[in-house]
Amino acid sequence: MPGTNLTREEARTRAALLAVDAYEIELDLSSARAGGTFRSTTVVRFTAAEPGASTFIDLVAPAVTEIVLNGRALPLENFADSRIALPDLAAENELRVVADCAYTNTGEGLHRFVDPADGETYLYTQFEVPDARRVFANFEQPDLKAAFAFTVTAPAGWVVVSNSPTPEPVGDGDTRVWTFEPTPRMSTYITALIAGPYVGVFDSYDNGAQHVPFGVYCRPSLREHLDADAIFAVTRQGFDYFQEKFDFPYPFAKYDQLFVPEFNAGAMENAGAVTFRDQYVFRSKVTDASYEARAATILHELAHMWFGDLVTMEWWNDLWLNESFATFAEVVCQAEAPGSKWPHSWTTFANQMKTWAYRQDQLPSTHPIMAEINDLEDVQVNFDGITYAKGASVLKQLVAYVGQDAFFQGVRAYFKRHAWGNTRLADLLGALEEASGRDLRAWSAAWLETAGINVLRPELSVAADGTIESFAVLQEAPALPAGARGEAVLRPHRIAVGLYELVDGKLVRTDRIELDVDGERTTVPQLAGRKRPAVLLLNDDDLSYAKVRLDADSLAVVTAHLGDFADSLPRALCWASAWDMTRDGELATRDYLALALSGLQRESDIGVVQSVQRQVKLALELYADPAWRETGLQRWADAARSALHAAPAGSDHQLAWARTLAGAARTDDQLALLAGLLDGTAEIDGLAVDTELRWSLLGRLVATGRADEAAVDAELARDNTSSGQEHAATCRAARPTAEAKAEAWASVVDSDTLTNYVQDAVIAGFQQPDQRELLAAYTEKYFASVKQVWETRSHEISQQIIGGLYPAYAVSQATLDATDAWLAAADPAPALRRQVVEARAGVERALKAQAADR
Ligand SMILES: [Zn+2]
Repeated sequence: MPGTNLTREEARTRAALLAVDAYEIELDLSSARAGGTFRSTTVVRFTAAEPGASTFIDLVAPAVTEIVLNGRALPLENFADSRIALPDLAAENELRVVADCAYTNTGEGLHRFVDPADGETYLYTQFEVPDARRVFANFEQPDLKAAFAFTVTAPAGWVVVSNSPTPEPVGDGDTRVWTFEPTPRMSTYITALIAGPYVGVFDSYDNGAQHVPFGVYCRPSLREHLDADAIFAVTRQGFDYFQEKFDFPYPFAKYDQLFVPEFNAGAMENAGAVTFRDQYVFRSKVTDASYEARAATILHELAHMWFGDLVTMEWWNDLWLNESFATFAEVVCQAEAPGSKWPHSWTTFANQMKTWAYRQDQLPSTHPIMAEINDLEDVQVNFDGITYAKGASVLKQLVAYVGQDAFFQGVRAYFKRHAWGNTRLADLLGALEEASGRDLRAWSAAWLETAGINVLRPELSVAADGTIESFAVLQEAPALPAGARGEAVLRPHRIAVGLYELVDGKLVRTDRIELDVDGERTTVPQLAGRKRPAVLLLNDDDLSYAKVRLDADSLAVVTAHLGDFADSLPRALCWASAWDMTRDGELATRDYLALALSGLQRESDIGVVQSVQRQVKLALELYADPAWRETGLQRWADAARSALHAAPAGSDHQLAWARTLAGAARTDDQLALLAGLLDGTAEIDGLAVDTELRWSLLGRLVATGRADEAAVDAELARDNTSSGQEHAATCRAARPTAEAKAEAWASVVDSDTLTNYVQDAVIAGFQQPDQRELLAAYTEKYFASVKQVWETRSHEISQQIIGGLYPAYAVSQATLDATDAWLAAADPAPALRRQVVEARAGVERALKAQAADR
């Protein structure tokens, strides 16, 4: 029984049989304000290579009322198991399906949201991976491209946006009809519809020969916070950069960017109608790191218009390539586009993407970048750090290997050759081989078909007078966790070695040597006979993907002077290395804290500051020896308070430390400061206690029992928005009482009415590291319910619960044993097993790190 699954084999068979010409899709959304279901009518024309053969079309809907194939009505029983059986095809076919489809509140399919700020209804679609079939009947696989013509009936006065430019609506009375022009040929998963009383701001991209209309949309309740000009500016930069690098004009008729509520991902690359999570419309002051992240997302989605939308993977096994390319493109554009505000984007990449990749690659679930994707369930759990972050890191390594000019030359040929079509990895590698003259088979086998991270260590011998006698780079095979797929191998690495000296209190690079590392030991003769520098940094410039260790003398200098590197990238690499060693139990948590306390004082990159702040908190909660944990947490809270007072008024650092203190405060004195900031009796020069910061302060006061439900209600009255409701849900679930925990648990596990965002907010409040005793009872409850959650909830919703409610703070052998007992007894489906095994790995790692800290 396929359920809602589709196997690769089925997709292959169907693609061999069918060629899809066009869809006409009529959606009647006049029911949107009431909710429930909406009428969906699809007419699809397609040919069959083998007349008389049968196939099926995909649809997830509460009811089908009409199925007509080539003028002949088919029995409604042909609709079963999320498919409609289509027997006895002709050479040329026309199929008409009428269905009642459901609005969702999970962010999948056609999401329906009511804004508490104005009581209005807002809709948008989210179709990746297989959810267009929740809105209209279609052949849901990326290689069956077609033209899509949408006709939409919706309330008068609404804004309706799709892939094609929005037409003038017609009709009178309460509803209007929008008839969109057919799209170019595209895959189902990038079609889109956004409808509701959204507000738009308009501009365009013009370069003489080319005119592309731009629109930026959000809900009216966010309009005052929408900085459309900044969004247009980044978008325009991307248009200039990508059109030149790709040598291919933007392929669609217009470019709309829509900020929509309760969006599960960061954004989605619907052709010409990109949707973004609307937290990117900043209601309160955020640091520059948030603006940088938003710009990166804008560029990422824009890059997908070519890589993904114009040229599309044949099947989901190349999802990694799709995402890695867009991620690489976003970073290189930020680094190189004239006028970019974030030319240090490779620092951010090292700091965030690499950290994510290294973490994911050490989980028991790690896998080669080229994953076996046999069906849709495989792909849904594969939106992970390997697909996005390791893939992008390895692509960066590939660019270093073939050279950036050859890389873009190959990409240009690839777009021209495959425009509007579907491809496999080999098509891109072939184009790159032609452009670079390099054979990429060995590279591909070593990097894409194996799992895990190599460790690079320096091997150094220094004479008494400080002269280097010999220097080599040692490479270790990945320590693959038990059960991991793939073989542990050594790989070819293109790396740089940086030589740093202390000059006037700054660590300055005095030389750089670039080389190929291959095998277990690679000697670097260029360094012999030279004076030993203060720091020798492997993988300088972050060209390769590897864990890097420092020699003892370099480590001592870095520990004392981490904040003194003149450039942000080597600082980020050293921060990452220290974090890595802490996670691996090679650096005690208390020593990592000491390093952070000294280094953060001089760290100017706000993105790095905020990452390290998060990591310190995590290390203290999970990796510190429990007997010392309270001391560490005290020290951290004291440091946050001092740093908050010392930071320049109105600076990003001040805001970052205020947020850190809001999460860390524990003494009466510190909590009183939070309360004072909240009620206005305390002030810190330059610190705006705005909506979001107020919720952070209140959240901590509630979790520590210093503020009650009435205070939450009062705050919600001040901020009666959807974000306010989510924060209030977090606060209520964070109350330190058994009743509050039981209520939160029941609302998530025993009931299925919460929206994706409110559920996420409740889970965030429920899990409080300071409330380990209250949470202890829930380990057993978790294992008693997790399988049923998996079986009865949508993919998004169950993923939130399985990962979010796992007893991650119960770091003990008992938690591991309970997990193992459940794994043995429950015989979970692979995707469920994977999620629980990943959560278990966090506890196992924490136990080891605690032992190291002891
Ligand atoms: Zn993407």
